[in-house]
Amino acid sequence: MRPIFRGPVPTDAAGNPKTVTDYKDWRADLIDRIGNYCSYCNMVLNDSPQVEHVTPKNPQPGQPAGSLLDWDNMLLACGPCNRAKDNNPCPATTHFLPDTHNTLMAFEHVVDNTNRPGVMACLMKTRQGLTASQQIKAQNTIDLCKLDTILVNKRATDLRWKYRHETFLIALEWRQGWDNFGYKVASQFIPLLNTVAKAKGFFSIWYDAFHDVPQVLQALIAAFPNTEHSCFDAANGYAPVSRNPTDLNGL
Ligand SMILES: [Zn+2]
Repeated sequence: MRPIFRGPVPTDAAGNPKTVTDYKDWRADLIDRIGNYCSYCNMVLNDSPQVEHVTPKNPQPGQPAGSLLDWDNMLLACGPCNRAKDNNPCPATTHFLPDTHNTLMAFEHVVDNTNRPGVMACLMKTRQGLTASQQIKAQNTIDLCKLDTILVNKRATDLRWKYRHETFLIALEWRQGWDNFGYKVASQFIPLLNTVAKAKGFFSIWYDAFHDVPQVLQALIAAFPNTEHSCFDAANGYAPVSRNPTDLNGL
């Protein structure tokens, strides 16, 4: 899950902070800032990007309500993530969130090895190496958005597992291409790689495929709009670093 930086409230033509009367009016600004990707599963949003309230606007009884219109409570989501998240509470104390934590460190993509004939799937799982409490927070976010589900039926609209897997294989092919010849023509190879990565989405899949190639990581981080730069240590090969170093349960 790509860590993202929403940035300050967008301004109007006169340079004043924008206000909206319908939260959906933030859609174009969100796409402009963080790219046309689901903030949770990182799938590319070819159509119907949904403006999503991080803290639910209509919370469950006893839970705090998030702002209906404030920019700071908005992200983009795909239909399956938004539907799963619904009005369930997800405070940053119990969940890892892409606008608060270095979520790259919380999750990894795992090819499903359950024997389902004809079905190739890739799911989001908690990343190896998390502490026990971090693992609980990561799993809470996976459960919140159902990031580890496979729905196999003819009418399924939640195909995140399938698109993840397709992108996983494509990223592996590009990595082989890099190892075979790409590194020799890096200045031509990397822009092409960026174009494909941006078109396919799933930033973390690309990051992990090139985790030990700093020049590619630098380009990927720059290519996906408003990836939170503080989450990567440029002096250490763009390795992920905590966004909340004083929070023991944070990332
Ligand atoms: Zn999604």
